[in-house]
Amino acid sequence: MSDDKPHAAGNVDAGDTSERVGMAVLRERGLEPEELREKLIDAIGAEFTTYYYYTNLRMHLAGHEDYKEIAEDARLEDRAHFELVAPRVYELGGHLPNDIRDFADRASCPDAEVPVPYDDEGGRLDITELAAEDVLEVLLEAERCAIRTWSEICDMTHGKDPRTYDMASRILQEEIEHEAWFVELLSMERDGEINPAGHFVRGEPGDAPLSTNRRFNDSA
Ligand code: ZN
Ligand code: FE
Repeated sequence: MSDDKPHAAGNVDAGDTSERVGMAVLRERGLEPEELREKLIDAIGAEFTTYYYYTNLRMHLAGHEDYKEIAEDARLEDRAHFELVAPRVYELGGHLPNDIRDFADRASCPDAEVPVPYDDEGGRLDITELAAEDVLEVLLEAERCAIRTWSEICDMTHGKDPRTYDMASRILQEEIEHEAWFVELLSMERDGEINPAGHFVRGEPGDAPLSTNRRFNDSA
């Protein structure tokens, strides 16, 4: 009879809560769940710190209401990316670092700090002299780091871990959109060049059309 139900048992003993089939199946496919999990913690460390840094970067776009709005969408979507993947860390037998300093330190992207403005002779200017183009460049490079990070996770999980792959590919799509937004804004602001992103506005601020947790539970 058991031949009729080949998945009724596997290499985790019945009732054993110290092992997870959800991890064992990854190992069987040649993906080390622990290695993936640690990479995910690094990646969402970057999403979380970016969410923080974008708050400050957005403040320094004062007077550019259109830029502020787009920075806000990218900021809230990065928070959505953190929220989306955090449960996956636990499913893979891990946990978030208890100390937020450890979490920030292991983030897979550089800190997106407000850049220090300099004059033509290299003298340090007051922060109020900061040009919008300098803020936009920091935003752009943060998005590029995120694209590289989630592309790597897509490559690691493709054909092996459909759940993580699905999350990473949703996030990647939004990060690619974010890059296009900041390419458009920086091109015009710094070079007077038209380089369209093809984007108008998100619905609500930080809509996260592909990555928001809410949509997984949407019964509508
Ligand atoms: Zn993100
Ligand atoms: Fe982003």
